[in-house]
Amino acid sequence: THSNKTILVTGGAGFIGSALIRFLINETSNTVINLDKLTYAGNLKSLTSIEANHRYQFIHGDICDRELIDCLLTQYTPNIVMHLAAESHVDRSINGSAEFIQTNIVGTYSLLETCRNYFARLDVAKQATFRFHHVSTDEVFGELGDTGLFTENSPYQPSSPYSASKAAADHLVRAWSRTYKLPVVLSNCSNNYGPYQYPEKLIPLVLHKALAGEPLPIYGDGQQIRDWLHVEDHVRALYLVALRGKLGETYNIGGGNERTNLEVVTKICELLNTHILDKPQGIYDFKQLITFVTDRPGHDQRYAIDASKIEQELGWQPERSFESGLTSTLDWYINNPAWYQQLISSDKPDVLTR
Ligand code: NAD
Repeated sequence: THSNKTILVTGGAGFIGSALIRFLINETSNTVINLDKLTYAGNLKSLTSIEANHRYQFIHGDICDRELIDCLLTQYTPNIVMHLAAESHVDRSINGSAEFIQTNIVGTYSLLETCRNYFARLDVAKQATFRFHHVSTDEVFGELGDTGLFTENSPYQPSSPYSASKAAADHLVRAWSRTYKLPVVLSNCSNNYGPYQYPEKLIPLVLHKALAGEPLPIYGDGQQIRDWLHVEDHVRALYLVALRGKLGETYNIGGGNERTNLEVVTKICELLNTHILDKPQGIYDFKQLITFVTDRPGHDQRYAIDASKIEQELGWQPERSFESGLTSTLDWYINNPAWYQQLISSDKPDVLTR
C-alpha cells in the first residue's frame, strides 16, 4: 500500500512482531521502528531479511523504560504505535508470573502514559491521525463449552496468569481511551502458528521433538480445542485494524480452524510421515511418539472466535487453510534447523521438559 507512516512496533523481534515487520517492510512503504528488549523470545535472526532496509530501525530497550520511550516518541514522531511486546507463554506464567505482571501490565501502562503525553504535544493535524494499537489474545475471554464463539462483547474471564495480565492490559487501554481520549484500537486473536515461532509453543515443539525422535507431550487427553490462524493472516489483520479500525473499538481475529490438540499433533505426525524419508531410528510412524502428560492446571477447554466484525467492517479474511499453512510451516522448520536448534541448545530447561 502507499501509506508513508512511521510505525513504532513493540516486541518486533518476537514471533508475531517479526512477521508484522517483514510484512510492513516488504509489502508497504511505511517506516518501522522496532523496540524490543530481546528476552529469550526475541530473536533478531528473524529479521535478517529486512534489517538492512533504510525504512527499518531497531532499538534495544524495555517498554517499562519511560524515559527511553519518551525519547523515541519525540525523535521518531510515530503516527502509529503497534504494541505487541509481552511475555506470551502460558506455562511460563504458571511457573513464575512476575515478568508477566511487569511487562504485560506495568509495561503497557508505561507505554500508555508516555503515548498520552506525546499525543498531547502533537499538533492538531498529527493528533487526527495518531493511533495506539494494542495487540491481545482471545485467552482473555476464558473458556467456552462445546458450543458458542467469543465475540467482541464476551465477558472477560481469564484463567492463567498470562491471560489475566493481558486482560488487565486490555482494560488499561480502554480506560486510557475513555478517560484521556487516547485514540486506541484493540484486537484479540486466536492461536497463531507459522515460521519463526519459539519452540516452546505446541506446533514447533512437537515438530522439533518428532525430528529428534523424542516423545511428543500432549496435555491431559488432548481434547482441548483451539482455533488456529497462520501468523501471516494475523499480521494482515493487524495492519487493517491499525490503519482503519474504528477508534475505541476491538476486533476479534480468528481462523475458523477449530482443532483439538490431539488432532493437531496427529496431523503433524501424518505430514512428517510423508515428508521425512530418513526417520529417526526405530520409528516407522511419528504417531508412535505421542505421549499423554499431566494436564496444565487451569487448562481452558475450548477457544473459538467469531471474526465477523473484522470480516464485515474491514474486509479481512484468512487466506490460508490450516492444512496448507501447516504444511508450509513444517517445510520452513525442516529447511531452517539452524534457527530453532540454536534456541534449543542455548537455553531453557522448560523448553525440553514441558
Ligand atoms: P513472543 O513471545 O514471540 O514475542 C514477544 C516479544 O516481546 C519478544 O521479542 C520479546 O523480546 C519482547 N519483549 C518482552 N518483554 C519486553 C519488554 N519489557 N520490552 C520490550 N520488549 C519486550 O510473542 P508473540 O507470540 O509474538 O506475541 C506477540 C503479541 O501477540 C503478544 O502481546 C501476545 O500476547 C499476542 N498474541 C499472541 C498470540 C499467539 O498465538 N502467539 C495470539 C494472540 C495474541
